[in-house]
Amino acid sequence: MLITAFPSGPFATNAYLLKCEQTGQAAIFDPAPGSAEDLKWATAKLGVQGIFLTHSHWDHIGDLAELKKHLDVPVYVHALDSVNVAYPGADRLPLMMPVQGVEPDGFLEEGQQIQIGNLLMKVVHTPGHTPGGVCFYLKEQAVLISGDTLFKGSMGNISFPTANADAMWTSLKKLAKLPNETKVYPGHGEPTMIGNEHWLENAKEVFIC
Ligand SMILES: [Zn+2]
Ligand SMILES: [Zn+2]
Repeated sequence: MLITAFPSGPFATNAYLLKCEQTGQAAIFDPAPGSAEDLKWATAKLGVQGIFLTHSHWDHIGDLAELKKHLDVPVYVHALDSVNVAYPGADRLPLMMPVQGVEPDGFLEEGQQIQIGNLLMKVVHTPGHTPGGVCFYLKEQAVLISGDTLFKGSMGNISFPTANADAMWTSLKKLAKLPNETKVYPGHGEPTMIGNEHWLENAKEVFIC
């Protein structure tokens, strides 16, 4: 397994490319604004199975339309974030740049298993930052792609229009149950480990003073 980050756009949003080295199959996560050219290059010899979205904020889907057109692969998002993918800005979060909408091809659900070559990833629904926020968990490889739910030492904004603080606390408690050695690849910033984020169980007490 190989995972590569492409930090792009005004907030250095991490687009990720996940590759099964045995089969050459791959998946793209969160094609941030400005990431399309790098991702086209990086996937030129790979079999891309789909573009998977941790959530629908514009800084995670900025180059989605361009990349989908180029690769002609399906786009997946949780149903509760899907309207904002088709109509960016529908969630009332102001866009900092024009973003072209894309009609999703499929909806992600809690517990759903997705096969990328020989890699198996599970969808973990983690609402809070947005209603349809998800993480992607590869148990065997001990990897979590966490979107804006969990950052190194921090979490996603819960003051945005569709955010829900109580849902966020529950989602972070869910992530706290993952094995300590799980490596976390967040939507912004550097990777971390679940075992290093000791605050997850008590996020409410830590962040609401
Ligand atoms: Zn976000
Ligand atoms: Zn973000």
